Amino acid sequence: MVGINREAVSIREIEKSIAEEAFERGLCEPQPPKTKTGKSVAVVGSGPAGMAAAQQLTRAGHDVTLFEKNEAVGGLLRFGIPDFKLEKTVIDRRLKQMTAEGLTIKTGVKVGTDITVADLRKQFDAVLLTGGSEQPRDLPIPGRELQGIHVAMQFLTQENRRVAGATFSAEETISAKDKHVVVIGGGDTGSDCVGTSNRHGAASVTQLELLPKPPKERADSTPWPLWPQMLRTSTSHDEGCERMWSILTKSFEGEDGQVKRINCVRLKWVEREDGGRPEMVEIPGSEFVLEADLVLLAMGFLHPVHDALIKDLNVDLDPRGNVQVGADFMTSEAGVFAAGDMATGQSLVLKAIDGGRKAAASVDAWLRGGVSVLTN
Ligand SMILES: Cc1cc2nc3c(=O)[nH]c(=O)nc-3n(C[C@H](O)[C@H](O)[C@H](O)COP(=O)(O)OP(=O)(O)OC[C@H]3O[C@@H](n4cnc5c(N)ncnc54)[C@H](O)[C@@H]3O)c2cc1C
Repeated sequence: MVGINREAVSIREIEKSIAEEAFERGLCEPQPPKTKTGKSVAVVGSGPAGMAAAQQLTRAGHDVTLFEKNEAVGGLLRFGIPDFKLEKTVIDRRLKQMTAEGLTIKTGVKVGTDITVADLRKQFDAVLLTGGSEQPRDLPIPGRELQGIHVAMQFLTQENRRVAGATFSAEETISAKDKHVVVIGGGDTGSDCVGTSNRHGAASVTQLELLPKPPKERADSTPWPLWPQMLRTSTSHDEGCERMWSILTKSFEGEDGQVKRINCVRLKWVEREDGGRPEMVEIPGSEFVLEADLVLLAMGFLHPVHDALIKDLNVDLDPRGNVQVGADFMTSEAGVFAAGDMATGQSLVLKAIDGGRKAAASVDAWLRGGVSVLTN
């Protein structure tokens, strides 16, 4: 059956062509609210969760202000995911619709710093936190301090800004041109680093993953309808890179302060008798060295940055360091809600949009003291 024992139908392409057709035919016109509630909401963070929530809350008749610390709206859609995967016109046309519906947007405003949390709470009836999960996982091994080792987002964000027209000095520029690039981390972010490095004209691109190579077909351990555990190959991989699995990076080595090599070892993953997570064991004698003059750390994100926004709001965190919410998306502080990666930890665009819309309905219900007018 399709998607179970054969290739899935391309739902993504079908949905994309429906959306494009709808915009082309003028079916996505602004829908300003017919009546206003007199209530105000601050949405903090303008990624897919914040954008989705802000649009819903504006349409419900609230006065909504969307705050964003960066110079433009979109979160990881704009500053993480490369243009070759997501054209930014998709964000801009949605924004046009949202401002026509009455949304106020404040970019270049870091909430907690540029506007205090106390002022925010005074000025708005409700606050929705959608600040993402921006604390990257680092690799604190010998040599980490060498030049040429960057967390992936430094590289990808700069490239997104460059494509949008920004310029950078020679010292600031992170370029893969003619370099031996090693990307550490095998997920979406790593794949985007591979695609970007190839576009820069890298001499070679190698992607390392700690975990074992997944099977080509859906594994028995993840039967339908579970998310299939299987090998994923993106167009960036197809464009050219060497992929290696079950590799542990032990240390970086450099010359004159610049990274030149990575010392690695192969791993075997040993099943535990108690059925727990397999144990990672280094294979003796399997050590090897990779040439590397640009290293990109793409090992995921830990949790939201625990800065003034979270500390001053005094919201509880879950054991992983994300903002803890109840089923109604409310945090431990009355009237303060959270959604998207900030509440779930790093996830997917679709889930962020879904969370944003559901949280908007909860905020709306809370402001009305009853039932929300929003449907999901
Ligand atoms: C490189 C990369 C590639 C990815 N590729 C895919 C993919 O192909 N498919 C997919 O489904 N998912 C992908 N993801 C994951 C996806 O992008 C995220 O799950 C999604 O963007 C989360 O949305 P969000 O709105 O919760 O947060 P974000 O998109 O992270 O947005 C949060 C926003 O809040 C702002 N902010 C934070 N703190 C403050 C503050 N104090 N004041 C004001 N603003 C603040 C930030 O600047 C940011 O703009 C990728 C992620 C990365 C990093």
